[in-house]
Amino acid sequence: MKCWQCENEARAACRFCGRFVCKEHAKTLPTFVAMFLGGESTPKGLVVADAIWCGVCEPQPEPIGMPELF
Ligand SMILES: [Zn+2]
Ligand SMILES: [Zn+2]
Repeated sequence: MKCWQCENEARAACRFCGRFVCKEHAKTLPTFVAMFLGGESTPKGLVVADAIWCGVCEPQPEPIGMPELF
């Protein structure tokens, strides 16, 4: 599998869109991986501080509503 942006061998897959990127083109972004209820029913988000990002796609900061699915 080749990098999305160049001809190098890919080293990782984008956490957000699945494109493959080489070490040179891989970037990182913080991302939420899960929400859960912590102590005293406080909602908490589990965050990965440096998830692999391809640098091409545009992850949205919040989940997008998909009313057409209902
Ligand atoms: Zn590359
Ligand atoms: Zn991506």
